[in-house]
Amino acid sequence: MKSKTNTAQEEPDYRELALKAKQSRQSLDTLDDAHRVPLTRAISNVLTTEIAETTYAQIIDGLPLASVADDTPGGILSPAHPINRHKTLCPGALDKTRLFRAEFDPGSLRFDASLLSAYQATTSGSAAFGTRLIEMVAIAVHQIAAVLFQLEASGHKDDGVTDWAPRSDDELWWRINPDGPLPTLFCHSWYVDYEQYPDGVADVVGYWAENRILGGVVLFDRNDPVKAEEEERKDEEESDDDYDLPPHQADPNAVYLHPERGGNVPYRICKLLDNQKEQLLAFLLAAEDMSDNDSSYSCPLPILVGGQNTERVDPEEPIHLTGIYRDEWERNLQPEYMGDNRSRDVFSLGDWVSFAEWNHSRERWMTRFRRYPEWIQRQWEGRVRYDHSDEDDEIDETST
Ligand SMILES: [Zn+2]
Repeated sequence: MKSKTNTAQEEPDYRELALKAKQSRQSLDTLDDAHRVPLTRAISNVLTTEIAETTYAQIIDGLPLASVADDTPGGILSPAHPINRHKTLCPGALDKTRLFRAEFDPGSLRFDASLLSAYQATTSGSAAFGTRLIEMVAIAVHQIAAVLFQLEASGHKDDGVTDWAPRSDDELWWRINPDGPLPTLFCHSWYVDYEQYPDGVADVVGYWAENRILGGVVLFDRNDPVKAEEEERKDEEESDDDYDLPPHQADPNAVYLHPERGGNVPYRICKLLDNQKEQLLAFLLAAEDMSDNDSSYSCPLPILVGGQNTERVDPEEPIHLTGIYRDEWERNLQPEYMGDNRSRDVFSLGDWVSFAEWNHSRERWMTRFRRYPEWIQRQWEGRVRYDHSDEDDEIDETST
């Protein structure tokens, strides 16, 4: 069996990693003006957008809007869920949000020390500068959401909407939610491992806010370019029949979005095109008052990835195999009871750019256990909730 980069033998202790990272956080004071000024401007530019305002207002309100809670691939929200009645923001939420924005001090944000020094080390205007700036903005968007969630000023605290669960005979719901409802309705369903997050449930809300405001959870290529090249060379030399992941050249300046939205937005992780990244940076770095509606700084948020974003990654693959993630603790492998989209015998042009690409995805699904390092298999097995031992590892005749 071939192995890709980052195939450690033991499962890392994510909780410990996350807490360590949290302890190392620092304010923007360590940055020089050439790095701090564009960053605070970028954060402020995002905060002035309508999508940021309505997103943060929902957190302050304490519940998402029904239309937002249902804005997922396939819109799987139960019609019986009481969130369906939350059609508008409650009185006062928008005013409180605007007051928060007026008083907001970017100096209150805290960033990982290693990210701060990586950003500080970049040359203004370089590709690395833009990439690290986008990373810091994503963290700011996430952290502001987490802070607002932790204020616990919500008028919905005791109304039972978040705790709602259907009757026990709703088999499908209970299969997907064996532990009952999540502690928050502000969630991107792939980013819910709050027990190992530095700020717990507040981070679930943070990932949700990134998705709503920016267009997806913001991820990067963490593959080591030197190692990735070595792996590719090794793969070419070996000639066994094992299925392998497609060739991947590490691109430290690539920016990926992991969206969760309805409409035509794919559920898979999409690499931003150069022009999407440039447009985002032009907006973030715009010095003018955004309310001027200057068309050269038109707001690209949220970025809706789609057909043009042809470089995609299966979110079902472990992040240690793809190397596409932001923080190691951000999500575990989804348990099998959640279903694996790749196992379905329906080709959807929205999610896969071609029939061939869909077939490759299916192949990765079929060969997953052969490719996963042991500790990832153990992690997966620990999360299996129903017996699937009769599941065949090959596509059967009826599904092709
Ligand atoms: Zn409300």
